[in-house]
Amino acid sequence: MDFTKSIKEFKLAQEVIPGGVNSPVRAFKSVNCSPIFISKAKGSKITDIDGNTYIDFVSSWGPMILGHAHDDVLKAINETAARGTSYGAPTILETQMAEKIISMIPSIEKVRMVNSGTEATMSAIRLARGYTNKEYIIKFSGNYHGHGDSFLIKAGSGAMTLGLPDSPGVTKNTAKDTLIANYNDLKSVERLLIDHNNKVAAIIVEPVAGNMGLVLPNNEFLKGLRELSDKYNCLLIFDEVMTGFRLARAGAQEYYNVLPDITTLGKIIGGGLPVGAYGGSKEIMDFLAPNGPVYQAGTLSGNPLAMSAGLTVLNKLDNNFYEKLEIISKSIHQGMLDNITSTKTKAVINRNGSMLTLFFTDKKEINNYEDAICCDKEKFANYFQLMLDQGIYLPPSPYECLFFSSALEKEDIDKFINANKIALEKLNT
Ligand SMILES: *Cc1c(COP(=O)(O)O)cnc(C)c1O
Repeated sequence: MDFTKSIKEFKLAQEVIPGGVNSPVRAFKSVNCSPIFISKAKGSKITDIDGNTYIDFVSSWGPMILGHAHDDVLKAINETAARGTSYGAPTILETQMAEKIISMIPSIEKVRMVNSGTEATMSAIRLARGYTNKEYIIKFSGNYHGHGDSFLIKAGSGAMTLGLPDSPGVTKNTAKDTLIANYNDLKSVERLLIDHNNKVAAIIVEPVAGNMGLVLPNNEFLKGLRELSDKYNCLLIFDEVMTGFRLARAGAQEYYNVLPDITTLGKIIGGGLPVGAYGGSKEIMDFLAPNGPVYQAGTLSGNPLAMSAGLTVLNKLDNNFYEKLEIISKSIHQGMLDNITSTKTKAVINRNGSMLTLFFTDKKEINNYEDAICCDKEKFANYFQLMLDQGIYLPPSPYECLFFSSALEKEDIDKFINANKIALEKLNT
C-alpha cells in the first residue's frame, strides 16, 4: 500500500500541531509507523488521502455504532444546520434528548449535557464532592476517565501507550485526592474506604474497562462496589462514556444489573459530534446550578447539531439493533478464536458485545492492569501493520478495543477473519 501523501501531511502537521495530532493515540507511535490521514468514510469503510480504503474497526473510538455518514444522521444534521448552528439558549431538542436518555437508562432521572466525555467525568466528581461534602475519589488502575487532572493517575491506554503513567502538570495536591484501587479487587477498595474513613466522595469505575484493552468485571465486582458504596456512604459513578448505548440500551448497568448513583456518557451519544452527559437521581442532579450550589456550565452545551445527530442515533437503538450487532460481534470473535487455534498463537481475546481486544500473551486470562501491561507490544505493532496492509483499520495501540458497527457486512467480516488468519500465520514464522 502507498502511504506517500499521509507521510507528507504528517510531516507538515508536526510543524504546527504538537506531535501532528489533536489526540496522542492518533500519532501511531505504538505501532511504529506513520498515521494515515483520512479523507472520507461511509458505512463500514474509511478512506485515506492516498486513496486506500479500509474496513474500519475503530469507529472513531466508539461513536460510529451505525457506521459512518449514516443517511438519517446526515439528514438530521443538515436540516438542523439550516436553522442555525448555535444559539446559547434553550431548545426543544435538549428536552427531547434528556427524555430519550432517561427512557433508556433507568438510573437517570435528570441529565446535564456537556461537550465531551472528559467534561462529563470532571463534572460528575465535582457534583459527587459537592453533594457528599467529601473530597477523596477512588479510581481503578488502568481505567481512563478522560484527561481531567484528578484522573491522570494510572490512567490506561493513552498514557500507557506513551509510557507516561502520570502526567507532569498535575499537582501533588490534586493527585493526593485520587486513591487508586485494583480492578476486579474489592478488597483493595474496602481497604481504601477504611483507611480514609468517611472521607471518600465517590468510587468511579469503567463498569467494563475498555482503556487497558478490554477487561471484563468478574461476577462479584460491580455488585460488590454497589454494596461498598452503600456501606461506606459514598456515591458510585459508572463511567459509561464507552459502554453506554453500546453493550445494551442502558449500557453496562443494564447488562450487569447494577445501578450507579451517577452515570457519565459520551461517544455514541453525539452520533459523531462532540457530546458528553452525566445524569443520576433528581436529588443528586438538583445539586447543580442554577438549582443548587455546584457550578458547571458550557457555551456550546446542548448544541442543536450535536443533539439532532445524537438523537437520531439513539432512536435507532432498539433490542433488534443489539441482537443484530451481537450476531456480527460473535461471528468475528469466533473467527478469531478459530484462527488462534489453527495458527497456535498465544493470545487471549476479551469481548463483551461489540467491544473486543486481542492480547498477545502467554497468560490464560487478562483481568486487570497488571495482566494487560504484560502483553507483547512488539507483536501487536507487527500485527497492526500486517492488518493495515490488508485493508483492515484497527486501533493503533495494544491497549484499546475494536468497536464493531452495525454497518459491517458479511463480506467485511469474512475479509477481516481471513486477514487475521494471514497476519497470525506470518507472525508465527
Ligand atoms: C473516551 C472516554 C472518556 C473521555 O471522553 P472524551 O470525549 O475523549 O473526552 C472518558 N471515559 C471513558 C471510559 C472513555 O472511554
